[in-house]
Amino acid sequence: MEQKSLADTLVDLEQKTYSSRELTQYYLDAIQAKNGELNAFITLNTEAALQRADEIDQLRSKGEAPPLGGLPIAHKDIYCTEGLRTTAGSKMLESFEPPYSATVVTQLANKGAITLGKVNMDEFAMGSSNENSFFGPAKNPWDTTRIPGGSSGGSAVAVAAGLCAAATGTDTGGSIRQPAAMCGITGIKPTYGRISRWGIIAYASSLDQAGPMTRTAEDAAIMLQVMAGFDDKDSTSIDAPVPDYRAALNNSIEGLRIGLCQEYFGHGLDPEIEKSIHAAVKVLEAKGAIVSEVSLPTVKHAIPAYYVIAPAEASANLARYDGVRFGHRCEAPVDLADLYLRSRSEGFGQEVKQRILVGCFALSAGYYDAYYGKAQQVRRLIKNDFMRTFESVDVILGPTTPSTAFKLGEKQDDPVAMYLEDIYTVTSNLVGLPSASIPAGFAHGMPVGMQLIGNYLDEARLLNIAHQFQLETDFHQRRPGDHV
Ligand code: GLN
Repeated sequence: MEQKSLADTLVDLEQKTYSSRELTQYYLDAIQAKNGELNAFITLNTEAALQRADEIDQLRSKGEAPPLGGLPIAHKDIYCTEGLRTTAGSKMLESFEPPYSATVVTQLANKGAITLGKVNMDEFAMGSSNENSFFGPAKNPWDTTRIPGGSSGGSAVAVAAGLCAAATGTDTGGSIRQPAAMCGITGIKPTYGRISRWGIIAYASSLDQAGPMTRTAEDAAIMLQVMAGFDDKDSTSIDAPVPDYRAALNNSIEGLRIGLCQEYFGHGLDPEIEKSIHAAVKVLEAKGAIVSEVSLPTVKHAIPAYYVIAPAEASANLARYDGVRFGHRCEAPVDLADLYLRSRSEGFGQEVKQRILVGCFALSAGYYDAYYGKAQQVRRLIKNDFMRTFESVDVILGPTTPSTAFKLGEKQDDPVAMYLEDIYTVTSNLVGLPSASIPAGFAHGMPVGMQLIGNYLDEARLLNIAHQFQLETDFHQRRPGDHV
């Protein structure tokens, strides 16, 4: 069952090859067997999932099953789920049970998806390896001595290891694409505002975006169809019609103009990854795509700009965890200052504290113009570069990450090395552009991801290219344990 795509699984459910309950039980058993080693799930939703599966089976017997009827999925533990613990990977929210569900969670549930549980992540989505989780890192199923990527590491592991049919993730600087690349799955971060952020715990509000993490591009289209759309509860949500993503998958890519971003090749990139990406480009060329080199000189400033803007916004968003309204509260505070100080000191982990400090510094009087203001100006220059480039190409292609999954612990003491993991991904968030990562080969026995960046609201085109690529290749079908 687990090797099947969402599309095939939906057909099986419809034809009653197996029931939704059997499928849900199958995944719960897989989690039971493998989660001890992989640490993908933080919280399980066993009883409610089985109960919902029974309800869906009943609806199906009456011919009333909803479109995603009975698909067992996992949510990144940053999506609020009513009555189901939501930790954001932090001690701060270790026992938080939200009184409401995120819009995305509700949309997926209304269409019949079943929530198996909540999956592991870097604390408050800050990280590139999942090692910043209060609950310990998830492990890469291709090699459990390696990191799965982050911050949506648990989502990528759960999909790659066959512990769920699909998962949700969030991406502020690469957190969907980077773990998708490192675990050999497909992930898409849509245009900023395409999916509602309501009920998703905020990291950096001008960069955060939700998205699906799946085995195939077709699966991503199925999930995105339900996740995308206007939400009047999110003032940054885009009020534009949602196209039929699945219908666009089979469009021809003849004449598609692909730009290879020069700055994303060369120094710092693992030569084995570079080889895989060039081979992948040939596959698209053979289908009629026209490839040219493009240059985006400002992207070299993306990491410094991101690591000012993201912590600045995070420092404001995380101010709400004060030990008063919700979240961890210290024992026996002597006064209000002590309550704040100890609750926050005890509740937040090291990386989160570091970022709050950096963010407060960058926003403080006297430094605002020099750092935050400057970073926002750089952001605009990067946007201009992309807009100019999209006049001559339809999509920008490159590697998702400079290296394949590294060893657990390898970069933990070197924040700069860790931050450079996002070198190819943060630009899309700074500009708000959609981008996807799809499996494009293997290097050193580990998966390689290829990134496609599109113009605003061009998700359908990205999924179309990804699907056309997956029709010609089988990287997305390989599973951990297969010989690569
Ligand atoms: N690794 C980046 C960070 O730590 C991106 C994280 C994300 O996209 N949530 O900020």
